[in-house]
Amino acid sequence: MKTTTRVAVIGGGVVGCSVLYHLTKLGWPDVMLIERSELTSGSTWHAAGGFHTLNGDTNMAALQGYTIRLYKELEEITGMSCGLHHVGGITLADNRDRFDMLLAERAKHRFMGLETEIVGPEEIAKIAPITNLDGIIGALYDPLDGHLDPSGTTHAYARAARMGGATIETHCMVRETNQRADGTWDIVTDKGTIHAEHVVNAGGLWAREVGAMAGVYFPLHPMEHQYIVTDDIPDIYERAAEHPHVMDPAGESYLRQEGRGLCIGFYEQTCRPWAVDGTPWSFGHELLPDDFDKIEHSIEFAYKRFPVLASAGVKSVIHGPFTFAPDGNPLVGPVPGLRNYWSACGVMAGFSQGGGVGLTLAQWMIEGEPERDVFAMDVARFGDWISPGYTLPKVTENYQKRFSVAYPNEELPAARPNRTTPMYDIFCGMGAVWGQQYGLEVANYFARDDEPAYETPSFRRSDAFAATGREVRGVRAGVGINEVQNFGKYRVTGPRARDWLDHVMAGRVPDPGRVGLTPMLSPKGRLIGDFTISCLSDSEFQLTASYGSQAYHLRWFRKHKQDGVTVENISDNRTGFQIAGPKSRAVLDACTRADVTGMRFLDVRRMTLGMTDCIVQRLSYTGDLGYEIYCDAMAQRHLWNTLWQAGQAHDMIPFGMRAMMSLRLDRFFGSWLSEFSPDYTAAETGLDRFVSFRKDADFIGRAAAEAERDTGTARKLAAFEVAAEDADVQGYEPIWLDGRVQGYCTSGGYSHHAQKSIALGFLPTERIAEGLAVEIEILGQMRPATLITTPLFDPDGARLRG
Ligand SMILES: Cc1cc2nc3c(=O)[nH]c(=O)nc-3n(C[C@H](O)[C@H](O)[C@H](O)COP(=O)(O)OP(=O)(O)OC[C@H]3O[C@@H](n4cnc5c(N)ncnc54)[C@H](O)[C@@H]3O)c2cc1C
Repeated sequence: MKTTTRVAVIGGGVVGCSVLYHLTKLGWPDVMLIERSELTSGSTWHAAGGFHTLNGDTNMAALQGYTIRLYKELEEITGMSCGLHHVGGITLADNRDRFDMLLAERAKHRFMGLETEIVGPEEIAKIAPITNLDGIIGALYDPLDGHLDPSGTTHAYARAARMGGATIETHCMVRETNQRADGTWDIVTDKGTIHAEHVVNAGGLWAREVGAMAGVYFPLHPMEHQYIVTDDIPDIYERAAEHPHVMDPAGESYLRQEGRGLCIGFYEQTCRPWAVDGTPWSFGHELLPDDFDKIEHSIEFAYKRFPVLASAGVKSVIHGPFTFAPDGNPLVGPVPGLRNYWSACGVMAGFSQGGGVGLTLAQWMIEGEPERDVFAMDVARFGDWISPGYTLPKVTENYQKRFSVAYPNEELPAARPNRTTPMYDIFCGMGAVWGQQYGLEVANYFARDDEPAYETPSFRRSDAFAATGREVRGVRAGVGINEVQNFGKYRVTGPRARDWLDHVMAGRVPDPGRVGLTPMLSPKGRLIGDFTISCLSDSEFQLTASYGSQAYHLRWFRKHKQDGVTVENISDNRTGFQIAGPKSRAVLDACTRADVTGMRFLDVRRMTLGMTDCIVQRLSYTGDLGYEIYCDAMAQRHLWNTLWQAGQAHDMIPFGMRAMMSLRLDRFFGSWLSEFSPDYTAAETGLDRFVSFRKDADFIGRAAAEAERDTGTARKLAAFEVAAEDADVQGYEPIWLDGRVQGYCTSGGYSHHAQKSIALGFLPTERIAEGLAVEIEILGQMRPATLITTPLFDPDGARLRG
């Protein structure tokens, strides 16, 4: 057996084999896969082999499209068959909301170049004649849908990898992964030890156990899953062409032709987690016992939707386990806190996603960063707050909601409340309606007695619209308060702190007492952070950024750590409030003896409010006069009492994230992972105004940013006023210009202050001009929109800076 290798991939399922192939494809031939049994010995051999592009996350959908197109390439390279059946597929809609979701998906596909189509009942009858159309409004047709041979495809990946130089060692069980001081790994197997520079955990069903060997908890859990293959059905085998796939979300089923019969699988509500205490090493090529009781209701429903099933006999039942992460997306990328250890697990749809996962990981390992924003599947999207107690209910919920309508404003209930601040019960008493971010409860709005205590999920303006409007008006007319608990916060200290920040951040590092805004760039000039830097002294800085990106940002900081600087994550220890609106200065003034009036926009000061020592900085994401006030978490309730009491004389109101996201639109402020993400560069989004080309520092991404400054960018972010009706832009709606799609939206919503529907989105740079008339497709309707450049609130910054 080979005993040294650049990369050791643990696990020979479809995902491990895809990673191995992509590593060779991108130029690393010295790679090795270690499989404890035969290839496909985990979930892979159970799979029904279906593949499809539909995914609510656009980048995930693109990677699924890549995976599906890859199979032809694999067949050509290897001369092996993947058993491809490109039969197309439809996803049915039996109610308005489900149809809205399909319309929104179709709209996204336009700029992604996917040829999906919305079809009505008549076309459905032609495409999938065995479908009972009672109650069906329409469907989304995807010509790329199909199925394949799971084993043949996995072996094709393996052969392609071998052809590229890779080695595969089967019947070789990994028992330990031990890191050496130089960051390389000893992989202890029952055939001897392999020394590898990098390790990839592609352990599938055993990924938790493989991770534990390195002391890492991977948040995934196996679920039981069952599909049935029927005996021959004349309505099927007498057809001239193979029957396409039919996804019936109402029945939580997927169906396709298998030989001369049908194959139907279910995502039943009465689902069952498997191997809660760990996957037994003894589990191999075996099935779980048939369990028709569990899917009784689903079968009944299927008989109504596809009457031919009722008289068909059962040929075989496949009942096996496969893993899910808490949100159903894969766990991919460098594992935070470990050097040279990579994740390729939690892949619940290996034949839709495996190719994209392999490509992404290989790019990350070899080129240093993936080509697109893959945060939706980044293993760092969960922090060290995650535990098996959280994962299990979330995975169960995810399985149950696999076919549910996913609403943009939906807050899922499982595993909540999990993490709360000292304000939780006080805000509950004030009517807070909670959302969840990175495990933390965050108030979306504060319902008064006549306002809904639960926001009904919707693609259109929700029933929280009026409450949100009331909060926005309260801020703009007086003063609003909310928490700053959901900001990621870091304390950067040490004699080299400024130098380090100058290197890691693209913007100017502010002088003591001042605050600066800065993008953080990857070497290729992509946006990997949007930070506020507060300089408390030359050796002490506070950084704030997205709360949900803590593990992602810390991973980057650790990768670029330097002697003489310490970076601490203080996101949950330092909390506090922000107050915003024209009366916020008066409220702050009433709480302290410090000089508030003398504080300029972007000043930061230490001051005592009541009994609490605070860091106060003058800026606000609302675009209004406002202050962020930080304190120790233990003092937060006292600080609240101080501010709230002082606020009473000024009609202070609490406001939540819904109002915040409306307020920011008034000044066209972008938000992280919508406008600002690794999909975009600073110049494309306008954040280049914060890049300091004059500073004497070789900051990461400088060369790429300079090149872009010289050449300009092909597209630019712009704002639009939309003639919307009851639905605003959410993100990824196509922008039509001159009769074709030339751009897409990144986010949007309703400006309650200006009483206008606003969208932010990209268009070709040469078309950006005030007053440009475009159309934006919202839920299948073309809405006229006009490009606007003047902020809707405080256009000259008089209030912000005054
Ligand atoms: C009933 C059923 C139907 C499904 N239908 C579909 C479908 O239609 N379409 C679709 O896309 N997906 C489907 N899936 C899901 C699909 O099977 C998985 O997404 C996919 O197989 C995951 O592949 P993997 O490589 O991540 O994991 P696995 O297939 O579990 O592979 C992990 C491998 O790692 C090896 N391994 C683990 N630990 C060690 C160790 N210590 N040393 C050495 N080797 C080790 C294991 O032996 C195993 O071979 C289905 C799953 C089930 C159960």
